[in-house]
Amino acid sequence: MSETTNERTRCLIIGSGPAGYTAAIYASRANLNPVLYEGIQPGGQLTTTTEVENFPGYPEGVTGPQLMEDLKKQAERFGADIRMGIATAADLGQAPYRVTIDGEKVIEAETLIIATGATAKYLGLPDEQKYAGMGVSACATCDGFFYRRKNVAVVGGGDTACEEAIYLAGLAKQVYLIVRKPFLRASKVMQERVFQTPNIQVLFEHNTVGLFGENGVEGAHLVKRRGEPDEERVDIAIDGFFLAIGHKPNSDIFKPWLETDEVGYILTLDGTPRTKVPGVFAAGDVADPHYRQAITAAGSGCKAAIEAERYLAAAGK
Ligand code: NDP
Repeated sequence: MSETTNERTRCLIIGSGPAGYTAAIYASRANLNPVLYEGIQPGGQLTTTTEVENFPGYPEGVTGPQLMEDLKKQAERFGADIRMGIATAADLGQAPYRVTIDGEKVIEAETLIIATGATAKYLGLPDEQKYAGMGVSACATCDGFFYRRKNVAVVGGGDTACEEAIYLAGLAKQVYLIVRKPFLRASKVMQERVFQTPNIQVLFEHNTVGLFGENGVEGAHLVKRRGEPDEERVDIAIDGFFLAIGHKPNSDIFKPWLETDEVGYILTLDGTPRTKVPGVFAAGDVADPHYRQAITAAGSGCKAAIEAERYLAAAGK
């Protein structure tokens, strides 16, 4: 497709999770007239979660979609220009930086805030593709409804896996939590909730090697203590197979221009959202392998907008 440059902005924000929206709130209040593209999943990962209990300011908790709606409204109130569209290419060779949206429209940006977040990982089994949309999911809160009074499995041993298992236990008949290690990595409070939920069975030291079923998932082939002398093959009957094994940062189009770690998280300088390219900032999960919380993402989005404002002021723009 041919590219046409038809717009220039002082501040371009890519991504619409807590980092992107918070950057938009601060950038609009600083009169940077930011343009924000929402990306593949408007509202980001929190739109696929249920109750958020740890975002300060909500003593009774808030649903993920509601929190994101509130952040979006707050950004729009100050004039942020929020648009649908996905960044498909980037040229950060020199300012103004050029970002292509949906493969056709090019935006020239004096400052760029990358807040593209991270995407759920899959095990890499061919069966995950074979049964995509037919029993395999990476979002319990999106798809759990379809498994009421059925049997499901969740893969993973972190907080996400525990949260998804607990959520699904409220809908499904039986939930298997498939954990590759002999322990959970999740926080103690989440572990306790899992152990206290009668219809969750934790299968420690189990790995999934395949799925089976005629017209959708009917079960999973597992291996217990893979590689050990007492290795054992186990099949479980399930209708739904949920992945909760972590995320991959959405940094691919920026990698030629920025430094990333081996997983792909964008490296920033000295605890700030600054990247090695002046005027380009990274905020939220795309640059955070450690905390990955809504509140830390929002905090880094705030910092990125302040950095953008100072960068423009110093450049006399
Ligand atoms: P984590 O990286 O914390 O956990 C990933 C889990 O998946 C681990 O148990 C890991 O196993 C397992 N895993 C990874 N790859 C494979 C594989 N190929 N096969 C089988 N198992 C695999 O990711 P989460 O998404 O759970 O959490 C991310 C961050 O978000 C964490 O900091 C977490 O605390 C936070 N979070 C907080 C919540 C809250 O406070 N309410 C809710 C959700 C997340 P292993 O342990 O063996 O490496």
